[in-house]
Amino acid sequence: MTETPIDVLILGAGINGAGLFRDLCEQGLTCVIADKGDYGSGTSAAPSRLIHGGIKYLETGEFRLVAQSTLERNLLLRNAPHCVHPLPTVIPIFSWFKGIGAAVRTLMGSTTAPRARGAVLMKIGLALYDFYGARARVMPRHALWGRARALAEIPPLTPRIVAAGRYYDATVAHPERLVLELVQDGLRASSASRAFNHCALLGAEGATVRLCAVDGTELALRPRVVINAAGPWIDAVNATLGLQTRLIGGTKGSHILLDHPALLAALKGRMIYFEADDGRICLVFDYLGRALVGSTDTRADDPDGVRCEDGEIDYFLQSLRSLLPGLAFDRSQIVYAYSGIRPLPASDGSAAGLISRDHSAPVIEPSDARDWPVISLVGGKWTTFRGFAEEVADTVLSRLGRARRVSTRDLPIGGGRDYPADPAVWAAEAGGAPGRAATLLARYGTTARAILQAEGAAPTSLEDAPDYTLEELGWLSRNEQVQGLEDLVMRRTALAVTGRLSMRDLDRIAGLLAEVLNWDAPRREAELAQVRARLTGRHHMRL
Ligand SMILES: Cc1cc2nc3c(=O)[nH]c(=O)nc-3n(C[C@H](O)[C@H](O)[C@H](O)COP(=O)(O)OP(=O)(O)OC[C@H]3O[C@@H](n4cnc5c(N)ncnc54)[C@H](O)[C@@H]3O)c2cc1C
Repeated sequence: MTETPIDVLILGAGINGAGLFRDLCEQGLTCVIADKGDYGSGTSAAPSRLIHGGIKYLETGEFRLVAQSTLERNLLLRNAPHCVHPLPTVIPIFSWFKGIGAAVRTLMGSTTAPRARGAVLMKIGLALYDFYGARARVMPRHALWGRARALAEIPPLTPRIVAAGRYYDATVAHPERLVLELVQDGLRASSASRAFNHCALLGAEGATVRLCAVDGTELALRPRVVINAAGPWIDAVNATLGLQTRLIGGTKGSHILLDHPALLAALKGRMIYFEADDGRICLVFDYLGRALVGSTDTRADDPDGVRCEDGEIDYFLQSLRSLLPGLAFDRSQIVYAYSGIRPLPASDGSAAGLISRDHSAPVIEPSDARDWPVISLVGGKWTTFRGFAEEVADTVLSRLGRARRVSTRDLPIGGGRDYPADPAVWAAEAGGAPGRAATLLARYGTTARAILQAEGAAPTSLEDAPDYTLEELGWLSRNEQVQGLEDLVMRRTALAVTGRLSMRDLDRIAGLLAEVLNWDAPRREAELAQVRARLTGRHHMRL
């Protein structure tokens, strides 16, 4: 088999691998990125969907992380305006002075988190957050509301509050799509580079790494540098490369999505970021018409089998009842649930919530048995992927004796390119049925133009999610490396996560994919059975 020399091989196409791939391709390097599953199907599909400065990291004294995260948040609002949006946030406050002593102890290195944050502590925190978020600022500063104002703004809120803080963070509407768009941007920048999803890592020997692509083709690559971007699977991938490491000590976090119109009406587009009764921070906000509630934080290490457990659901529902006694909550409102493992650095710290969210990139140098160094991307947050990628790309460039050509700081991502200043004007000019261009622009950014064209004058809507059309799904299937039904309904679209997928629509989409990907009847049935089992078993969906 011929061996292909390349500059960099990236194993894992979550947000960190994809961000680095884009950066290195922009610098003119020849890269291959490969994921054992779909792009963005690991932890990167399971976040709280916040693009945030990490206000809670002020408590642990991680000021550098807050400074970097707020900057990256502000940059993403500009570079991915189709996907990342401002999120007004309200923090209910239950006392005036609590938490100051505990905060000071935590800053001094104690490993027990503050259990209550009073108004004074909160005011200091919000002022600091504004201070750190000043670079490239695009959103308003914080405000402190009195009790009466807070209850007038959110009537079902518990009357136990004494005040509330209001500030701005951001949310990412389609994190899985943004990962894919970064991969596509990389391919656009470097015609010699390649990206493979559903690709197995077979092993490594001497100068060579062997992979098996989704169509069964074996690849033998001779990289100069290998990046291990496998998130919670980092130690497993290192083991396949012949290296024994213990870099990751993950914690599991779950979310549920509720069909709850009265809650959404009370939220009015705002997030409530609140202390649950046990002192942990939880959140609830309107995510594409569902109430997204999260998250838990418990030690775990099986990234392949994570699932939102009954105890976690009870915890969320109880926390909501306590926060919003004016509303009713029960399991029948749940339309979807998901879980992921935070790929945090291995640590023996006692409280999962206090393990640092900062990132690092340890290097294992070449040896007699292996010609290339392995750089592992450990930790980090979704929000900070660009800065992390920039740091690691600079390390790779200097090892390869190359210079940076392009900064990613102001580079638009995917459908954020040529994004209109006035979406309404763009939509009016783009044509199509009334409202359709605006819907597609919000979903795909300026890529919407190609999809509108593919839809033509009379597209066919899905029965139970009529704002999706078969022509749109066909376009995604042909242009976005869709390899299976799950890729399309769980990551290229928000059909699954918003709980809007019905069995009859799933069946129809399977038929469409069978045509595009040339499946025979048994393959089509197998895909349907597999996706149905996954959505009902792992994601609490009713199909
Ligand atoms: C509950 C929860 C809430 C969070 N909320 C937020 C938030 O709101 N905002 C925020 O900024 N961050 C948040 N995070 C953190 C953020 O999601 C992660 O830091 C980030 O997604 C990690 O990305 P990654 O690319 O390192 O890992 P992953 O996304 O897990 O990517 C690793 C990839 O490697 C692939 N892989 C595994 N084995 C192999 C192999 N053998 N060969 C090839 N590929 C392989 C996997 O399939 C996977 O796609 C949250 C995390 C969790 C768990």
